[in-house]
Amino acid sequence: MVKAQKRLTEESDILTALDNQQFSIWLQPQVATTTGKVCSAEVLLRQRQPDGSWALPNDLIDSIESCGLMVTVGHWVLEESCRQLAVWQSRGIMLPISVNISALQLLHHDMVSDMLALLNRYRIAPGTLILEVTESRRIDDPKAAVAILRPLRNAGVRIALDDFGMGYAGLRQLQHMKSVPVDILKIDKIFIDSLPEDTSMVAAIIQLGRSLNLKMVAEGVESKEQYAWLRAADVDILQGFLLRAPYQSTCLNKIIWVRTIHCFREIRVSDCACQLKVLTIKYQINVQIFRLCFLDVILCRQVKIIPTFPVAIA
Ligand code: C2E
Ligand code: CA
Ligand code: CA
Repeated sequence: MVKAQKRLTEESDILTALDNQQFSIWLQPQVATTTGKVCSAEVLLRQRQPDGSWALPNDLIDSIESCGLMVTVGHWVLEESCRQLAVWQSRGIMLPISVNISALQLLHHDMVSDMLALLNRYRIAPGTLILEVTESRRIDDPKAAVAILRPLRNAGVRIALDDFGMGYAGLRQLQHMKSVPVDILKIDKIFIDSLPEDTSMVAAIIQLGRSLNLKMVAEGVESKEQYAWLRAADVDILQGFLLRAPYQSTCLNKIIWVRTIHCFREIRVSDCACQLKVLTIKYQINVQIFRLCFLDVILCRQVKIIPTFPVAIA
């Protein structure tokens, strides 16, 4: 009885949060090891906290799942992500983003039709939406997973196997990988934590990933030593606090974006990044937001702004 009451309260809290814009998607950039530039970003759910900050409470995903709202919230995350992609793509930015999909959401009977409708409505360019399928005991039927993933992949969606090496994912999942269409393997942070002192697990995972021809992403990169080791080991993409913590995607709203583009243009003309502070004051934008918009420039720590930055400036 108490449990049922708790679930009802949780359900009502989550629906209220959705209605009142208390959920937001944040983005954590991922960096290509070969170029040092941002090549994609992971979408992470955040909820407004009573003190005004944004966070993902430890038990939020579990409570969304347990009160039966994962499909509703998951669809909202997917739609927000597609909206973000559409805004970027209309400005010539073809940065892919990857979205976490819970097993409950993936195996829902409307998943394929809902996803295809979103791709169509937002005219998402093929290859720019990645679904991160988190390991789960529920994906124990590879045939069901293939029936869902195959049509999505045919529609240009890429699939990443998240939290690789943890619990249920791993060898059993690998056995099915020839039939389950997977493009990317994400090495879990727990293995990255042991680098560079203990390299055995990561080295084994990299070897497996290579033999299956998968792109590899290392998550939770926190130190320069880990970065250097992973780079030397040719892991394709790195993600972690060392490179960038997640940031709020709505930073890139239209007005800020237009001002930021003007600021970027002026810095480009003057060819001097030292003027960044002066110009961000002039255009009333936050230096941090400027940095978010031109992450690859900043991450490369270039003094000169790269002239080939792929933004169509009208
Ligand atoms: P995940 O998919 O493994 O996401 C990576 C988590 O690691 C994120 O935590 C991110 O903030 C954190 N992280 C990234 N780099 C570092 C680092 O260098 N150090 C440390 N200590 N942490 C790092 P977050 O945002 O709290 O998300 C936790 C989990 O919640 C995610 O783990 C994912 O499984 C789930 N999740 C988040 N958003 C969604 C969503 O929209 N849908 C679903 N189904 N699950 C989500
Ligand atoms: Ca993930
Ligand atoms: Ca993880």
